[in-house]
Amino acid sequence: MSEAQDRIKDQAGPCGIVCVSCPLGSGVVAECAGRTKKNIVDCRIPMWSPFVPGGEVIDWAAVDRGLDWMEKYAVCAGCGNGGGPPDCTIRICARERGYELCSSCQDLDSCTKFEWLEGHGSELKEKLKENRGLSKEEYIKKMMNQMPWEA
Ligand code: SF4
Repeated sequence: MSEAQDRIKDQAGPCGIVCVSCPLGSGVVAECAGRTKKNIVDCRIPMWSPFVPGGEVIDWAAVDRGLDWMEKYAVCAGCGNGGGPPDCTIRICARERGYELCSSCQDLDSCTKFEWLEGHGSELKEKLKENRGLSKEEYIKKMMNQMPWEA
């Protein structure tokens, strides 16, 4: 288990995201950025890219800066550790109502606060509805490998 995974292994947001299953929470996105940066250097891609169609216009210094940024910052600490978008409407609401998971909320069916998560929002709502009554620990254990994306 990576350091990032260890940090968030027992966490889930009130929205039902199991943090260790999220590529931002698990550190997969940041690790991939670091690996890509290394591959660019090891494979000397900027040297030969101008000879491949479209490669001559790539700003490799900007790519490097972007990947560098992702390696440092594209890691979510999880809601429980102060991570996640600070203005997440779901987290703010669930905290105000005193719920660890929105599956405890009677208004889940009609709740519109998941809309900013677009397609994932409705999938997460369904998962929360299916798992009403489970504690956060039970939910994490059961849903760890059932998030609507690949970890
Ligand atoms: S209304 Fe209920 S389901 Fe919606 S965000 Fe708030 S606590 Fe969660």
